[in-house]
Amino acid sequence: MVGPDGALPLPWLGPLLQRALQGPQAHALLLHGPQGVGQFELALTIAQAWLCERADRPSSEPPCGVCASCRLVQSHSHPDLLVLLPEALREPLGWSNGADDDGAERATKKAQPSREIKVDAVRLAVNFAQTTTARGRAKVVVLHPAERINHVSANTLLKTLEEPPGAARFILSCAAPDALLPTIRSRCRSLVLGLPPAAQAGAWLAGQGVADADVMLAATGGQPQEALDWVQQGIDAASWLRAPMAVAQGMSGAFASWPLPRTIDALQKICHDTLSLCVGAAPRYFPVASLRRGAEPAALHAWMRELNRVARHAEHPWNAGLLAESLVEQGRQSLAVGTSVHSAP
Ligand SMILES: [Zn+2]
Repeated sequence: MVGPDGALPLPWLGPLLQRALQGPQAHALLLHGPQGVGQFELALTIAQAWLCERADRPSSEPPCGVCASCRLVQSHSHPDLLVLLPEALREPLGWSNGADDDGAERATKKAQPSREIKVDAVRLAVNFAQTTTARGRAKVVVLHPAERINHVSANTLLKTLEEPPGAARFILSCAAPDALLPTIRSRCRSLVLGLPPAAQAGAWLAGQGVADADVMLAATGGQPQEALDWVQQGIDAASWLRAPMAVAQGMSGAFASWPLPRTIDALQKICHDTLSLCVGAAPRYFPVASLRRGAEPAALHAWMRELNRVARHAEHPWNAGLLAESLVEQGRQSLAVGTSVHSAP
């Protein structure tokens, strides 16, 4: 959202915000694009703009950031704004007082925070949308990420999207629109977020204190928020640049402190870039100098198949350390110069 200084939460959101606020205003907006480029921040800023009460502000301009309504959005206490997040995302996104607060229940059960947006929360949102506005502008529901609602919740929501109550407006953000019901997609005006310009994203990352921001930006395929997450998990540019050689030498210890999904992601990218070198294409995630040349494409393809298979189940590994070790060992064999798939180590 826009702060009291009038600055956008992320510098590259300006043109997107303008596109969202201009043109036909739908009751429901679907923001989609890769993760890590600011979907949630954009959704909140659009909501803030819809609710902004500054009298002389054209409706296509960003929210003012200083009116009473903007202040309430900033303090997460606007009575006409409901933000629906899975429990697991509330703390990382700094939004812990949303709907569906079952933290007490969870504490007694010692369960993992839920990654789903639960049907009770969606029902709450539907009721919220039907009540009259407290401040007279709109009732706005932000749902992030929309692919985390299940089919029951989706059907509950669909009814409201089909016949939205007068003042209700919905913003759904989503990295995988294909995971949404087509009937939900078709009720929403769609706004696509692309990758931000590299220079702008790199400058923002550097401003967050990230060293070698361009390396980390390339590592995440150009997604600056994702890059910041990596760095905050202790994966910096130096360890990223060392990763391909660590695999080539079978040093799985280089990944010991990495969360398993990050390790698998890194191995997939090492494999991808090494395959690119094999066919004379430019690598995407690593500088050429950090990669080993001369591997056999067949061995790399076999490694990639295994990595893709494991990646689908990486949330609940039976033993993360052993799994990472075995994937790195397969990587070592695959990256060895001139070996075939079945050769002995
Ligand atoms: Zn305002």
